[in-house]
Amino acid sequence: MKQSYTFLQQALPLCLGLGLLILAPVTAQDAKLLARAHTMADKLEPKVIEWRRDFHQHPELGNRETRTAKKIAAHLKALGMEVQTGVAHTGVVGILKGGKPGPVVALRADIDGLPVTERVDLPFASKAKSTYNGQKVGVMHACGHDTHIAMLMGAAEILAGMQKDLKGTVKFIFQPAEEGSPIGEEGGAALMVKEGVLDKGPKPEVIFGLHINSQTEVGTIKYTPEGTMASADIFRIKVKGKQVHGAYPWSGVDPIVVSAQIINGLQTIISRQTELPEAAAVITVGSIHGGVRNNIIPEEVLLEGTIRALNVDMQKKLHEKLTLTATKIAESGGAVAEVQIIPQTPVTYNDPKLTEKMLPTLQAVAGPDKVVLAKAVTGAEDFAFYQEKIPGLFLFVGGMAKGKKPEEVAPHHTPDFFIDESGMKLGVKTLTSLTLNYMESKGKK
Ligand SMILES: [Zn+2]
Ligand SMILES: [Zn+2]
Repeated sequence: MKQSYTFLQQALPLCLGLGLLILAPVTAQDAKLLARAHTMADKLEPKVIEWRRDFHQHPELGNRETRTAKKIAAHLKALGMEVQTGVAHTGVVGILKGGKPGPVVALRADIDGLPVTERVDLPFASKAKSTYNGQKVGVMHACGHDTHIAMLMGAAEILAGMQKDLKGTVKFIFQPAEEGSPIGEEGGAALMVKEGVLDKGPKPEVIFGLHINSQTEVGTIKYTPEGTMASADIFRIKVKGKQVHGAYPWSGVDPIVVSAQIINGLQTIISRQTELPEAAAVITVGSIHGGVRNNIIPEEVLLEGTIRALNVDMQKKLHEKLTLTATKIAESGGAVAEVQIIPQTPVTYNDPKLTEKMLPTLQAVAGPDKVVLAKAVTGAEDFAFYQEKIPGLFLFVGGMAKGKKPEEVAPHHTPDFFIDESGMKLGVKTLTSLTLNYMESKGKK
């Protein structure tokens, strides 16, 4: 997750207890398997916590997760899986072939830490330091990816323990650099997809992933059908004018005044031209550079910003309108605007059919009143790259201590970020149950 998302706390509770009846009836054999998985998750909790503390104490930045990857690979190998390492730099993929035929299900965890210096008083707090884009930094699992690794390792141990009864194959994807790669390097989900994680070897037909949330109470699952997290694209606008003495503007073309008009124009794209009831969208200008002296009108100005959208059509329209607005305003002032849009992360799009199909599983695992339909988030998440290729479901799991209020606790990416470890058990159960129930539903077709 690349942004904090406090607005999740305003989500509406949705009681869909009857949803349990929608799923195909579970046979006695499958019910046994599920019950076994849950008992194993309870038993495994101390181990999952131990793993998480180890990763928490030894965080590594994106594309540098060598120690982390070694530990993951050793665990998967010990479970008897076929293991690939060095995928997209430091990624690890484990393949678990079940004893019975069935679909290939992918489960994904991101494994990178952040350039943040930990301030939490914990016996296993991080003291790690590294270099990030040439700068000395502290390193911390300040987004909770340590819990993601531990939860997926737990799910791997449980599912490997029932290999012979498993109706299909599970692909465990441990992905580096979700938070972005160092400058000049490729990485993350985009590179994993490019290197063929969804095409080579067993091809997954579906993918599940989850994110712990420091401002959601332990025991709660939050989900949003369709756009759950936004696309994030960078834009750069170079406004070219004609340099002249500040006392004689009529003799040149002032790119500063034109830039001011462009910034105002860009804000009307969302407020006046976008159908907001359909989905939220954001255009932010985050930097302006131009000029060196009070009485010189400069040659050019550079504007940079970010575009966020929650569906692909809107994303496309925003790109078109941004280009049109900037170029036409510049033209009207006698300047030229060169617009560059650099796509970064697509919309994290929860396939609506898959979401509906798996909802009863979530309700069975967490309890119907603990599965909450949440508002979409305008932060981005690179899980989106998998969902561009195959249907996927991305969920949020609570990591805030019971009794706390979201506004009292630290958001993601901050030095005081804290996760209540008791929340991980639900994550482990969710990953295993989604896998087992998805396989089961395919067997019934
Ligand atoms: Zn993050
Ligand atoms: Zn994250």
